[in-house]
Amino acid sequence: MKKKISLPVQILIALAAGIAVGLACLAFAGGPEFTTNYLKPFGDIFVNLLKFIVVPVVLLSMIDGILSMDDMKKVGAVGWKTVAYFLVTTAIACVIGLAFANIFNAAGLFPKLALEDGAVWEKATSANFMDTLKGIFPDNMWASFHSANMLQVIVIALLLGGSIMAAKEKGRLCRDFVSSAYAVIEKLMGFIISLSPIGVFTMMAWVVATQGPKILGSLTLVLLCAYLGYIVHAVLVYSMSAKVFAGMSPLKFFKAAFPAMMFAFTSTSSAATLPVSKECADELGAEDDISSFVLPLGSTINMDGTAIYQCVATIFLASCAGVNLSIGQMVTIVVTATLASIGTAGVSGAGMIMLAMVLTAMGIDVNLIMIIYGVDRLFDMGRTCLNVTGDIACSVCVTKWEGGRKTAVKGKRK
Ligand code: ASP
Repeated sequence: MKKKISLPVQILIALAAGIAVGLACLAFAGGPEFTTNYLKPFGDIFVNLLKFIVVPVVLLSMIDGILSMDDMKKVGAVGWKTVAYFLVTTAIACVIGLAFANIFNAAGLFPKLALEDGAVWEKATSANFMDTLKGIFPDNMWASFHSANMLQVIVIALLLGGSIMAAKEKGRLCRDFVSSAYAVIEKLMGFIISLSPIGVFTMMAWVVATQGPKILGSLTLVLLCAYLGYIVHAVLVYSMSAKVFAGMSPLKFFKAAFPAMMFAFTSTSSAATLPVSKECADELGAEDDISSFVLPLGSTINMDGTAIYQCVATIFLASCAGVNLSIGQMVTIVVTATLASIGTAGVSGAGMIMLAMVLTAMGIDVNLIMIIYGVDRLFDMGRTCLNVTGDIACSVCVTKWEGGRKTAVKGKRK
């Protein structure tokens, strides 16, 4: 009988094949262009499909999660535990990022680069806190869906979920509609996820062929510093969370989280990875209503990898600008990078835009971002991978804190 290869193994094969094809394309002229013109579009199609279901997934999974909790008190309890986990782990991420960046800087390992003539950072810098707060509340529901503004979609889900619950019997039709629509979306999600090896293969081949040579460029050590931070954070914080809070072996945790991690690594979008993260959290025993609440929220506000990246980049760019930062300023970096990572959207490249906020707070020229602009995708792959791992770890821990899983697995991966 023919045995079906499991999805994690398929993804691993796709990853290895993508790297091999990417390297092969580097060897002949026109190879990188071939990957851009003929392979990447398939990866783009796959990411588009994921983006296309992300709004219904976030909306329906959050409302469904809230309704299954059946009690606003439980929503509150899950909510504060989730936010506390997010904040503590992100602050630890900042400290790890700063520690590595300072070691590299003190050892003289960071190159001193200057801006190329004419390079200007055009993106808008940070908005103020009250404007950001105001922006979370939608004035038009359809506009929020249309622009895929995830924080607004989450607020809509919370309001609608709470109201359906409050309407009791009269809200039954809406309740049944949400649960039926979510079951349909889950089927669709399963189908799209089964295509993920194609997405991983094509994106990896393209990244290796087009960005590969840059790894050998002057920013290698800065990349290395960020990746050391990512790895240490994953090993320290997520292994310990899995072991101490969820009583699960770190190996088991990372094995089950692997498809989401690989998918995040190649797609560089936490939001697009959401359907895959949901499957992995299910596999790890997270309660369905809890992961339906934690993961959409996490893919929008919990960004440990982004926080590490912002700390490393700030120290590196400060050294390029010849600025020496004091201990007090390091504390400011922890606070601003935590806030900036919360404000970062779960889409490709968003962390670099929010880096402007940290640099502005430190009085460092925002235009210096142009120094790392060209290799941002390489930083982004690792930071997104860490971001989604943190979301999955949180849903497993909160499930445990709420007394463990009580219901059967819903959408199990085949
Ligand atoms: N790409 C990251 C994510 O989706 C955000 C970032 O750019 O830092 O999680």
